Amino acid sequence: MRTNPLATVRNLGILAHVDAGKTTVTERILFATGTTYKRGEVHDGTTVTDFDPQERDRGITIFAAAVSCAWDGHRINLIDTPGHVDFADEVERSLRVLDGAVAVFDAVAGVEPQSESVWRQADRHGVPRIAFVNKMDRAGADLDAAVASIRERLHPVPLAVQLPIGAEDTFTGVVDLLCMCALTWTDEGKADDAAPVPDELREEARARRRLLEETVAERHPGALEEFCDTGTLGDATLAAALRDLTHRGDAVVVLCGSAYRNRGVEPLLDAVLAYLPSPLDVPPVHGTDRDGGEQRRAADPAAPLAALAFKVNATATGRLTYLRVYSGTIEKGDTVWDATARRSERVARILRVQADRHDRLDRAVAGDIVAVIGLKSARPGATLCAPENPLVLEPPGVAEPVVSVA
Ligand code: GDP
Repeated sequence: MRTNPLATVRNLGILAHVDAGKTTVTERILFATGTTYKRGEVHDGTTVTDFDPQERDRGITIFAAAVSCAWDGHRINLIDTPGHVDFADEVERSLRVLDGAVAVFDAVAGVEPQSESVWRQADRHGVPRIAFVNKMDRAGADLDAAVASIRERLHPVPLAVQLPIGAEDTFTGVVDLLCMCALTWTDEGKADDAAPVPDELREEARARRRLLEETVAERHPGALEEFCDTGTLGDATLAAALRDLTHRGDAVVVLCGSAYRNRGVEPLLDAVLAYLPSPLDVPPVHGTDRDGGEQRRAADPAAPLAALAFKVNATATGRLTYLRVYSGTIEKGDTVWDATARRSERVARILRVQADRHDRLDRAVAGDIVAVIGLKSARPGATLCAPENPLVLEPPGVAEPVVSVA
């Protein structure tokens, strides 16, 4: 059976309180995926997602940029989301185009005030999330305390799928509670093979796996059935149930690591593919047509075009308009209708932004995130659509029920 190529796309955002390590996590993802060959460091101003000099000067991520990278046969479009409360509008627009997000927390501070506000915004948009507890190498880092603060202050059901190996300075890896194996890193990078769980952690890992199975079975009918029949949950059932619970927003898978020391990033990418939705898994978007009628558009490349402009950047290459294509196909040279400004625009070039370079594309299809050149006036928030099928996509802030996949 041929799988729909859209199933291999993840439109991902990284949400965090300023300083939790969002920029460092983004950098390490780009490095791990081979998108950049040099590790950018926040302090020397070389980070690739921070395009704007003002942003580098202030050391906070102000302007969203979408960067595309590849991992294990999938394309991850990484949409940078400002962590600073002063940029709430921009956060809203970014959240609108995401299908899933990684929420980054500081392993010492746990949930901080801005993590709460961004979390609530993501709730309103029905964005499925996984959590990454970063800075496990810091003095005072405590995964259990961070998980407790996520539960108490944000109220999801957090499901830790890893157990740290070592603490603070000696944090060297994690026990993966799904494969019940140890993943470790040295200063040179990830150890190639998953190793057996260290003897001293075996009992605790077993107890945590058991707790994970029980918590999942309580919330997922399919898993409960297997749990009742066999008294346990197989790895495949557990992974599928975690995916369903994440898609529905019923639980948040928690991983940990140290982005700065480059520990935990590969399992995080694996978790993005395993648990977060593709454009096919999210509900259709709503819009209003010329006669005021409601239209729904699913991620179908053959449907009429509907795309949302969510970011405009003036760059040396030209005026770059970032688009999320919700339905249809957009081709180089196409004339599209800006239904918000009520004017025609021509798409001169379509680009996939890859951190340090732009790849030219002939077309972009439903589910994709690309940047286009040639649009003279489309503003962030504008709907671009087929001239013969005009439609304005609904404004942000409209909570969509998350798709039920059970
Ligand atoms: P952002 O504001 O969320 O984008 O956070 P940054 O990525 O800019 O990180 C804030 C600070 O925390 C920087 O000084 C980073 O070097 C540091 N940092 C990020 N990740 C880690 C980590 O895993 N461990 C430690 N010890 N520091 C980190």
